[in-house]
Amino acid sequence: MFSDNFRRGEGKGNSKKSSKAVSKMADLGWKAFQAVNKSLPESEAITPKWAAEPLLKSYERTAPPLGFPRETDSLCPTCVKQVREGVINKSIPLEILMNSHPGEIKAQIVEENGQVVMKKTCPTHGEFVDVMATDPKFLERIESLFYGRDFKAAEDKHVHHHGTSDIKFGRGAVLTVDLTNRCNMMCNPCFMDANQVGYVHEPTFEDTRAILDRAISFKPRRQIIILFSGGEPTIAPHFLESVAYAKKIGFYRILAATNGIRYAEDIEFCKAAKEAGQHGVYLQFDGVSEQKNKHRGVGNLFDVKLKAIENLA
Ligand code: SF4
Repeated sequence: MFSDNFRRGEGKGNSKKSSKAVSKMADLGWKAFQAVNKSLPESEAITPKWAAEPLLKSYERTAPPLGFPRETDSLCPTCVKQVREGVINKSIPLEILMNSHPGEIKAQIVEENGQVVMKKTCPTHGEFVDVMATDPKFLERIESLFYGRDFKAAEDKHVHHHGTSDIKFGRGAVLTVDLTNRCNMMCNPCFMDANQVGYVHEPTFEDTRAILDRAISFKPRRQIIILFSGGEPTIAPHFLESVAYAKKIGFYRILAATNGIRYAEDIEFCKAAKEAGQHGVYLQFDGVSEQKNKHRGVGNLFDVKLKAIENLA
């Protein structure tokens, strides 16, 4: 906790001094370790079974151009809307996104008037200026911490085929799979407009299985987490079956993003979810009192959360 205060400059007196001392010692320790490490003969890099190539040494990692001023690739926000509408109403083929570069323009990232801004000009829609950072030094610091690109994505041609927006590097992340747009609550606002769009969208189990099969088909996949979401995923007809399938094909962590009601109502459901392979839940919380949660329209929602935790424990 103290290091967080230290970073924000909120620490006082002794705790700030000890934070600095710990930070300095860690820095020295790391430098000593690096010096010893560099003096030893280099061992052969290992290839983990979840990766398609050997682990990269730090000097093998590449980086995109960083710092400012610099030129980068960007999009015209108006062209993007037009293309999206065209794809939806089928006047523009979807493949254009894979095989062409609709709306793409060059942009300049520059420091101006104490801010970092991105400037770009679309030949059709004119000039756009977006503020990227109100603290150039902070952005510089964040960019300086970039430790280099990770593994190249491999064996992924059925998944990452999105044209310019393809994922090219990394080692897995969180895959959110929405199982339904229905919910047993009616929050306003709701991030998904659950229950509010006039139709129900629920992938079949076969649809979900196809998503999971594609996601497991490429490397690297070490940290890939499946987050079943919605709406409320626990009321989707194939929730338990989908959890079990994700587990069966070898996913690392399987979670549900939930309001907790189903888990609070039924301890047997908690047991069934665990049995199916659910590792944990990502529980919606607005605060640790009924007062902080009451705007969601359920009088005892905080008690519901506590009951859900108790049943899941
Ligand atoms: S619990 Fe979540 S999904 Fe359900 S209505 Fe509220 S915000 Fe939407």
